[in-house]
Amino acid sequence: ARSSSLSSLNDRIRVCVRKRPLNKKEQKRNEIDIAAVNGRRTISINEPKVKVDLTKYVEQHEFIFDEAFDADATNDDVYKRTAFPLVEYIFTGGKATCFAYGQTGSGKTFTMLDEKDGLYVKAGRDVFATLKQPQYAHLAAWGSFYEIYQGHLYDLLNARKRLYAREDGKQQVCIAGLTEHEVSDVDQLMQIFEYGNNARSTGATGANADSSRSHAIFQIVLKHKNKKKIEGKLSFIDLAGSERGADRGDADTKTRMEGSEINKSLLALKECIRALDQDSKHTPFRQSKLTQVLKDSFIGNSRTCMIATISPNISNSEHTLNTLRYADRVK
Ligand code: ADP
Ligand code: MG
Repeated sequence: ARSSSLSSLNDRIRVCVRKRPLNKKEQKRNEIDIAAVNGRRTISINEPKVKVDLTKYVEQHEFIFDEAFDADATNDDVYKRTAFPLVEYIFTGGKATCFAYGQTGSGKTFTMLDEKDGLYVKAGRDVFATLKQPQYAHLAAWGSFYEIYQGHLYDLLNARKRLYAREDGKQQVCIAGLTEHEVSDVDQLMQIFEYGNNARSTGATGANADSSRSHAIFQIVLKHKNKKKIEGKLSFIDLAGSERGADRGDADTKTRMEGSEINKSLLALKECIRALDQDSKHTPFRQSKLTQVLKDSFIGNSRTCMIATISPNISNSEHTLNTLRYADRVK
């Protein structure tokens, strides 16, 4: 559907794909690169098939997105065309969300939450630069960082304490007791990120997940200095590995339960983003904790950018195709 429509940086929903380079291991194994970025928006996957009679043939799958980033794109290149327009948007009072979706190892964290170079840092820099303008003197920025594992919320800025989402009479959802720190420059923002990121892997609560099994949510909220009213919100979401949501009959019970929870949340996410364009009354926010706590980012003044990250090597072709098919259906 997107192939014929014009896409703009200011679209309410943008879906982009980013291909990472082949890594050293993959190069050593002489794995071939099956993903080709053609032009600014198209990516094709040349999926080799082996027939029963052992004659090899190649099936080509082509996808068109709002943007396709090749393996040599830098985080700056990606930032300019994905999160940067969202930074401008939150200063008009909007809620904006940037997701990284993809298989474990495909570059979600590298793109979104790399400690020193992720999109969250670049956006933070622009947020603080904008806050220096006199017309925004009444605003302050606050940071929070939490994760969702097995449908439960954990505060990464407070020793991974379990949190609960509450819905008030006006159907607004808030996370009771979520730690928020006021931040006034990018160094402070990076400090709270680092603090939370450490909690992510070493949390005191015991059963903490490896990062591929949980969704990590880092938020920058603009609030009025006096009224403390929320005036804009930007969320960076490093989703659980999409392959974790796949049905794996061979896995143990715990892994299967984790998988079905992840699957449920990724399906609900897709439906909620799709509904953004239709102002649907039937958006399934409640189908997962992820979509429930992001409810305010799917209604009213809101914008979403999804970056689907893919591995280019042949042995991941199935996961890569699954990622591209999912992203293709989001918009
Ligand atoms: P994910 O979070 O999706 O599991 P990571 O972001 O951790 O994946 O990336 C896996 C590895 O690949 C990391 O070592 C990362 O530095 C590297 N990597 C990912 N994307 C890129 C890229 N676009 N360019 C160079 N290296 C990358
Ligand atoms: Mg990661």
